[in-house]
Amino acid sequence: MAAVNHRGTTVREPAPWVEPPWRHVGHTLVHHGRGGAAGSCEWCQTVRVRDLAKLPKAHLHLHFTGSLRVSSLREMSAEHGMRLPAALTDGVALRVPADERGWFRFQRLYDSARHCVRSEADMRRLVDEAAADDAAEGSGRLEIQVDPTSYAPFVGGITPAVEIVLDEARAASAAHGLEVAVVVAASRMRHPLDARTLARLAARYAGDGPGEVVGFGLSNDERRGDTSEFAHAFRIARRAGLASVPHGGELLGPAHLQEVVGTLAPDRLGHGVRSVEDPALLASLVESGVTLEVCPASNVSLGVYERDDDVPLRTLVDAGAQVALGADDPLLFGSRLVQQYETARTVHGFTDAELADLARASVRGSRASAATKQRLLAGIDDWLSSPSHPAAG
Ligand SMILES: [Zn+2]
Repeated sequence: MAAVNHRGTTVREPAPWVEPPWRHVGHTLVHHGRGGAAGSCEWCQTVRVRDLAKLPKAHLHLHFTGSLRVSSLREMSAEHGMRLPAALTDGVALRVPADERGWFRFQRLYDSARHCVRSEADMRRLVDEAAADDAAEGSGRLEIQVDPTSYAPFVGGITPAVEIVLDEARAASAAHGLEVAVVVAASRMRHPLDARTLARLAARYAGDGPGEVVGFGLSNDERRGDTSEFAHAFRIARRAGLASVPHGGELLGPAHLQEVVGTLAPDRLGHGVRSVEDPALLASLVESGVTLEVCPASNVSLGVYERDDDVPLRTLVDAGAQVALGADDPLLFGSRLVQQYETARTVHGFTDAELADLARASVRGSRASAATKQRLLAGIDDWLSSPSHPAAG
């Protein structure tokens, strides 16, 4: 039996073919029970979704300076009399090729921003605003990544630099109602002995709560440095109970990723998207439960993939990978955490139930306490059983 809806389109009568857990009350599609997905109402022809900023989630891939608001960067640069490249403040997402020149351009811009963070007050402001922005996007747990080396000259060394970040992470957690923990990251551009020093420093503050160090990372251009030479630093970190969270599988393919996995024994991988190029490697990551910190906007900005829909998010999830979406460097890539979930929804067709699964994977991949994980997971269930609303547009 056919009927004409309010837009003049002929549709089938609504009630009988609406899949549980949806049902019609008049022309309104009502959600009942748990485990529902975004639904398209055939009667009123609107897609109904839930607010992604209200979806509880954990943010596991965010760099310190890369988290800066453009407005704050402007103020810091003015205060310190530093000139900023237009590309940092024009509000346009960076686009570079995935070669060494592209990375060099990205790194130069990142360094320009980093040079504006040159006091304890700047560092505290950065952590506080990152926490506030994350909380506003539904993040209940932020594990922010910092290499203290660059900020050390302004505050008297790497130890005070780490302590300032941790102290402010504690304060910001209380102020904004989320947990901010810290990943200390070494750089591939520096000597592996520097990485050991950082690992020993990180180990002193190991824990799982707000204002504690939860992991040890390795960042910068994957083409630089000998991965195996950083293994010693990661052993130091692991002995202290820190998670191993190196970058890998972003700029270089499976062979390099295999080396990262074999030598640094990651609990989580920064990116890891290139694992799709080797199904056996991807299967082994799935098998060992490594969480992939996938940052869709970053991948496109850095030319790893040409277009949003080229990011292999669906392939990774279909393979059973634990995927935690992250923003990486919102300052340069032009979008924060919720936008990554929006991209999963609008570009990759993830339903609300699938988006909830991504949020669950982010929480499980975090180093939060069991109690915090349980609370956030319960919040995700509540979100999914809450009423949906018509999608904008
Ligand atoms: Zn990163």
